[in-house]
Amino acid sequence: SLEGKVGLITGSTSGIGLATAQVLAEQGCNLILHGLLPEDEGQSMAADFAAQYRIRTFFSNADLRQPESIHRFMAEGTKALGSIDILINNAGIQHTDSVASFPIEKWNDIIAINLSSAFHTMQQAVPAMAQKRWGRIINIASVHGLVASVNKAAYCAAKHGIVGLTKVVAIECAEQGITVNAICPGWVDTPLINKQIEAVANTKGLDYHEARYQLVTAKQPLPEMLDPRQIGEFALFLCGDAARGITGASLAMDGGWTAQ
Ligand code: NAD
Repeated sequence: SLEGKVGLITGSTSGIGLATAQVLAEQGCNLILHGLLPEDEGQSMAADFAAQYRIRTFFSNADLRQPESIHRFMAEGTKALGSIDILINNAGIQHTDSVASFPIEKWNDIIAINLSSAFHTMQQAVPAMAQKRWGRIINIASVHGLVASVNKAAYCAAKHGIVGLTKVVAIECAEQGITVNAICPGWVDTPLINKQIEAVANTKGLDYHEARYQLVTAKQPLPEMLDPRQIGEFALFLCGDAARGITGASLAMDGGWTAQ
């Protein structure tokens, strides 16, 4: 059980982050929820979580591209719930284009959201975790933190970056009861990949389901998308005592993608 602990999950209004929030809430973990929802919708989501799971919650829609916003939201969340014991850097965006035509603002946004935000949150969370001599940090990377695909310059750069950042913070914190790991999922069924499915459907003249199947099986041997909850359950395992020896690892959950 995670009763009495506080978890912060960036991007927990959708997809993997939302599923992970549900998995942790089922264990009694208090939650700092976060994501780009209008304030009133976010507050009602936080209230629903609190009522359904009998936990304490806090919501923020801070834009992770602004370091000051990250600092403010983490300070407010800590003040509201008392600490941050589990930090899950999950928020992320995608944009696909060849390097020659990759829009500079997309590059900057992907590096800021998918990579730099995790630097800022870890920098802020680590000292208090070290003082308590317990902490769990989980960075949601991707198979694209381990291998490349065409048209994903910014995404692969950010995900490879977060794998490296994970290793550094892990070894810096190894004597302080803090573990820091990256989960590297293959295809996960979330809104993030809709545009890529639509692009395959349009170029190849396929219906949505056939395009989805072709996209998934192009590189991933397991011919199905992962369920976001599976990532949440993996994160939960990493929060437990059995996982205290796992740190600095980049853990593939990719249907065999990187076994090839
Ligand atoms: P999603 O689009 O369902 O959710 C993304 C979350 O990030 C949302 O809550 C959104 O509000 C938040 N977010 C986006 N931009 C933000 C910003 N500027 N400031 C604050 N929050 C912002 O996506 P998902 O698929 O659940 O992705 C979650 C993580 O998993 C990402 O880091 C993604 O790269 C990674 N991932 C996804 C897949 C996949 O196939 N879906 C595979 C591997 C890794």
